Amino acid sequence: MDLIENPLTEVITIDGPAASGKSTVGLMLAKKLNYLFLDTGCMYRAVTLAILNRQVDPADEAAAVHIAKTSSIDIASAKGFDDGRLYTVFLEGQDVTWEIRSPEVDAHVSLVSSYKEVRAEMVRQQRLIAHDRAVVMVGRDIGTVVLPNAPLKLFITASAEERARRRLQDRQQQGISASYEEILADIKRRDIFDSEREHSPLKPANDAVIIDTSQENPNEVLDRILSLAAV
Ligand code: C5P
Repeated sequence: MDLIENPLTEVITIDGPAASGKSTVGLMLAKKLNYLFLDTGCMYRAVTLAILNRQVDPADEAAAVHIAKTSSIDIASAKGFDDGRLYTVFLEGQDVTWEIRSPEVDAHVSLVSSYKEVRAEMVRQQRLIAHDRAVVMVGRDIGTVVLPNAPLKLFITASAEERARRRLQDRQQQGISASYEEILADIKRRDIFDSEREHSPLKPANDAVIIDTSQENPNEVLDRILSLAAV
């Protein structure tokens, strides 16, 4: 694993459970500060999609690691699109921004992300992307593993019910039919899986500021973070 950490002080890490609003707030923060924004969840999702597209069993760890190491994943801005995306994700040059949000990917992404060597490859790529750049990086293990020396670490959370409600709203806005109960069950399942896995489990860094967004809208959360960043 590439152990070179970003030497800059302009590094903000945001971790938290599924659908906590961390990507929305992270992107707003990055735009405000003119930092690079990287949502690492989309990289694990893209690897999972590559596995499913090749009809490989996600339980086949060796095959998953091989696909993680050989797939080309790129993340670009949302410029030129007016479909609600926060950024554009390419897998082998194909736009997969919406495909990586499918229920099939939701169902398998936590297993794929639990493999040690899949994580090592993603962490290597994340550090390369962020090296020497001011960055807001969002995920599950960014403050604990990927960029542990970041001066500002945040852990953004909300109740599972509130997160399911928000995810349902997103799906409805995209014209996708979904049930609240199914979304809530998926969120709870991923919370447990991500928090209890052996490698890089979801948890706040010891020095992270914990922000519960259950009662706050993204602008209020952003203001709170800007005052923490003292910008
Ligand atoms: O954030 P998002 O819900 O898109 O992430 C999808 C999945 O990717 C998570 O449930 C988790 O299993 C995995 N993930 C991870 N480490 C990260 C980001 C995401 O394990 N840094």
